[in-house]
Amino acid sequence: QQRSVTDMDVVVIGGGQAGLAAGYYLRRAGHRFVILDDQPVPGGAWPHTWPSLRLFSPAEFAALPGWPMPPWPDGFPPASHVVDYFTAYEERYDLPIKRPVRVTGVDRDGQHLAVTTNQRIWRARRVISATGTWQQPFWPLYPGAREFTGRQLHTVDYRQPSDFAGARVVIVGGGNSAAQLVAEISTVATTTWVTTRPPRFLADDVDGRVLFQVASERAAAIAAGKPDPGGPASLGDIVMVPEVREARDRGVLQALPMFDRLTRDGVAWGNTVQHADVIVWATGFRPALAHLRPLRLREHDGTIAVSGTKALKEPRLHLLGYGDWTGPGSATILGVGRTAKAAVAQLDLDD
Ligand code: FAD
Repeated sequence: QQRSVTDMDVVVIGGGQAGLAAGYYLRRAGHRFVILDDQPVPGGAWPHTWPSLRLFSPAEFAALPGWPMPPWPDGFPPASHVVDYFTAYEERYDLPIKRPVRVTGVDRDGQHLAVTTNQRIWRARRVISATGTWQQPFWPLYPGAREFTGRQLHTVDYRQPSDFAGARVVIVGGGNSAAQLVAEISTVATTTWVTTRPPRFLADDVDGRVLFQVASERAAAIAAGKPDPGGPASLGDIVMVPEVREARDRGVLQALPMFDRLTRDGVAWGNTVQHADVIVWATGFRPALAHLRPLRLREHDGTIAVSGTKALKEPRLHLLGYGDWTGPGSATILGVGRTAKAAVAQLDLDD
């Protein structure tokens, strides 16, 4: 079937926070662009997170460029507030977002990059890929995974603790999601927390504000050609939001080492077997880059080599969001603005 082809200066793939921040700076620079997003509604990954999820910083520390997130009166904002903000942001800046449009491939086409979608082909001078990580949950495979007869789910499928009332639940993972899930599931179920290395808790007074500060200092040091002072990860992993602090005080945040296999009805460390009805894999995400496969840019670690946000082996392509490898704090709401600004400045559209 013949697809129609539309020429465009810049095609942004993904309409989450990274796509919106790119859109803000593209609009300001006066570029002709379109944002393609495969979801039916605004918000990127945020509408898919569990409803009780709250940000790890106050609203003023979760601002996209140009227009801050409206304040949330009661502590840190919930995911629904983020979705409302992004929805209003798109309208405020009249961002040209087409949804739902799924990008299936990006390939070279002479002077251009051809962005193939389920609807048409966009022939772009530059592409900014901002597809996030939510569609690429990482689920490690352990021996016995297929024998286990209970329920296994990943963070992406988690909704609320009441789904596990009275059950014996093993939660796997050493990051914020795992700690928050232990905190809330342990209010209705018996939980066991397992991590591959001892969890690294941040100090109680370190939240998103401090993490952003550290990411900013790192960005400034790198920009000034000074040695990399290390990002927020050097401080620890787990932000002690009120629910996690409260779980610590209840004594349920004691992590065991990772089990070595699953059994029919539980998990096991050598000869020690523990019964489990449910295993929750809060084991993180990988960048969602399948649409870039035709360009053959992936490194062994699953990322794409970049200078700033520009792909080293395909300078017409930029990567935005995903993780610190595309810019310090690039996978946070506040941090992505800085990286998006630099990405748009790096587009070199005058060539
Ligand atoms: P996404 O939000 O995932 O947006 C990408 C968009 O692209 C999506 O709409 C997706 O459907 C679409 N897409 C993907 N592939 C295609 C394709 N092939 N074609 C078309 N569209 C496509 N950050 C903070 O700043 N503060 C916090 O408190 C915070 N808490 C977090 C808690 C959790 C549990 C998680 C998982 C993350 C948290 N983050 C937080 C991190 C960060 O803000 C998110 O990961 C964020 O969603 C990344 O934004 P993004 O725009 O890069 O990707």
